[in-house]
Amino acid sequence: MIPLVDVRAQHQRFRAEIEAAMADVVRDGDFILGKAVGRFEDAFARFVGTKHCVGVASGTDALVLAVREAGVRPGDKVLLPANTFIATAVAVSQAGAVPVLCDVDPVSHTIDVAAARRALPAGTKAIIPVHLYGQPADMQGVLDLVQEKGLLVIEDAAQAHGAMHALGPCGRLGRASAFSFYPGKNLGAYGDAGAVCTDDDDLAGRLRVVRNVGASEKYLHPVVGCNSRLDTLQAAVLLAKLPHLEEGNRQRRVIAGWYREALAEVADDVEPPAEAAWTRGHSYHLYVVRLRRAPRDAALRGLKQRGVGAGVHYPVPIHLQQAYAHLGFGRGAFPVTERAAETILSLPMYPELTREQVGTVVGALREAIAEAL
Ligand SMILES: *Cc1c(COP(=O)(O)O)cnc(C)c1O
Repeated sequence: MIPLVDVRAQHQRFRAEIEAAMADVVRDGDFILGKAVGRFEDAFARFVGTKHCVGVASGTDALVLAVREAGVRPGDKVLLPANTFIATAVAVSQAGAVPVLCDVDPVSHTIDVAAARRALPAGTKAIIPVHLYGQPADMQGVLDLVQEKGLLVIEDAAQAHGAMHALGPCGRLGRASAFSFYPGKNLGAYGDAGAVCTDDDDLAGRLRVVRNVGASEKYLHPVVGCNSRLDTLQAAVLLAKLPHLEEGNRQRRVIAGWYREALAEVADDVEPPAEAAWTRGHSYHLYVVRLRRAPRDAALRGLKQRGVGAGVHYPVPIHLQQAYAHLGFGRGAFPVTERAAETILSLPMYPELTREQVGTVVGALREAIAEAL
């Protein structure tokens, strides 16, 4: 059995450091906004290259709070790609704003800036490029559009820890960026966790107050906040794992190279992921291929029968989810996103995957495709 992602394999490798860090928190009873939280925030800000990192309870909360505190007001419109995890849209809705969707580019699967320009309603307040699968979005295009239209940029970097755009690291290319430390992400906690990164001192200050029930100091609450603190135990895990993130990302790129080589044998049936012209470091959170002719769901079943834990990211685009039917986009609204939803397949990807396992996955994929056709 080769899973899609194996969080236990990573724990085995760094077990001593991680368990010692967790034991320290427990021994000191330092559970809420404890020492490890500030230490992790400093270390992660240094890693991303921003002045500030504010730890919060999840990646979704990081997006909600970044959107709201950066200045998006209830009723404002916020543009985002239709091909993303639904949390990107949910965060906009949670902030009281209205998601406006646009299609993605067929090569990178990230926001198509020309489509974004066409979709942009007058008065749109912000744009959320998503560095999907670990591939940086077209930030030069986004920044040109932003300058022209006066938009705020919040990056959804939930899949892009350590990913590099030609312009710089993902997460320091907008007003603020949101990271998720969901266990399966490239930097994963042992539960929910997230962070906002920004160079903006005022924004970081407001986020620190808002995440802690609006407290500027103990029992003084200048604003109505929420409880979205980064848990100290999670911060301790993240602090122990952060020094290994770069090496893990390098290994993911090596594995992507193995896949590319092995997939050359099935080039008529499988399109490997392409790196965009602006990508300087793909973080390969997911390794997403496209099936050229075989029915995807049948191939996926075939892979599962052969013990390969493949997945689909994502099978139902945001505009076709029941939750967002009220936006009024029907089938056919975003053809590139819809075609991707029907033809893409995520193959197992995690740093501990071996070359032999990659061969096994590709062999199973070849059989599954032959069976499905
Ligand atoms: C994981 C993810 C999120 C949400 O993060 P959570 O920590 O699960 O709340 C948001 N956007 C994208 C693109 C993600 O992959």
